[in-house]
Amino acid sequence: MAGIYLHIPFCKRACTYCDFHFVTHLHQKERFLRALEKEIELQRDFLPRGETVNTIYFGGGTPSLLSQAELSSILNLLHKYFKVDARAEITLECNPDDVTAEKAAGFIASGVNRLSIGIQSFFDAHLTRLNRSHNSTQAFSAIEHAKKAGFENITADLIYGLPDLSLENWKHNLKTFAKMEIPHLSAYNLTVEPGTPLSHAVAKKRVDIPDDDFVLRQFEFLMDFMASEGFEHYEISNFARPGMRSVHNHNYWFGIPFAGMGPGAHSFDGKNRFSNPANNKKYFETIENNALALWKDHRVTTDEMNELIMVRLRTSTGISLDEFGKRFGEEERAYLENRSKGFLQTGHMVLTNKNHLILNRKGKYIADYITAELFAG
Ligand code: SF4
Repeated sequence: MAGIYLHIPFCKRACTYCDFHFVTHLHQKERFLRALEKEIELQRDFLPRGETVNTIYFGGGTPSLLSQAELSSILNLLHKYFKVDARAEITLECNPDDVTAEKAAGFIASGVNRLSIGIQSFFDAHLTRLNRSHNSTQAFSAIEHAKKAGFENITADLIYGLPDLSLENWKHNLKTFAKMEIPHLSAYNLTVEPGTPLSHAVAKKRVDIPDDDFVLRQFEFLMDFMASEGFEHYEISNFARPGMRSVHNHNYWFGIPFAGMGPGAHSFDGKNRFSNPANNKKYFETIENNALALWKDHRVTTDEMNELIMVRLRTSTGISLDEFGKRFGEEERAYLENRSKGFLQTGHMVLTNKNHLILNRKGKYIADYITAELFAG
């Protein structure tokens, strides 16, 4: 199996915390779409021969700015050049203000079968502060429109650790989510990325970020509440009803090859990683010259080991020591086992079937710390 990721680099406005690649004007959209079409053709042999694509993911940026016709034409080309499974998960990231009744019907008609809706909070005060383009009324109506259009596979994003998000606010957001009867939630702890407007505001003390203990209480409530609602906590930030886990996420965490297209997109052919320049002009010029914009990431084995530790430890499957040994050697496996001993003794992790190192509840609270302690090199 394999995946395809398409990066749509346009947004209506810049959210204060965001460090993804995007521009806030649409005048390059036509040129981008022509370049993307060309790139789909140029990348047709990127994936290992014969691999069937079981997930297509429109990320960004704001892919919901695309029209039905634009989405259909991209998907038609993907079907033409790749072997796409008839039951492939096809996800579109959306901002709630884009999901009108008409657009939701268009998304489903184009072939999209999963919507990822960036709600973030059901309080307007938080949305305004984050400079989101939508308000809470639009969040509710987006979900209604998506369901009425026929979407059954919907996921929502919520953020905790926000400035001024009280524990009561967070409980309200999660309870509101539960009432919406959506089968998947991605709940992220706000991170202050360098260079963002949020990081400047924090540095100038115009915004107070809640302390770690308080954020931990929000995370604790999140885990308890989602479990009580019958969701599986299958990755630190991801919760799904049984059978509704994201195929796209799974492929990424478990090293399945994927072709990334669009400026700033990353790709993995099963052996090597590549990235497109996160710069529209460079991306357009390269593709318009009939060349792939893919830059090979020259990573050493230590980077690969650390990536596997970082990504897998967040999942409910954990790190398979057998797989780790097979990939990186028995010496490295023994070294990882040795570094894990302390966390196993303190009950932050468990070892199941003498093979899988998995974070338990206590370990999830300090997942980033444990990950850093397990890193090689
Ligand atoms: S809509 Fe998404 S990609 Fe665009 S600025 Fe906001 S968080 Fe970033």
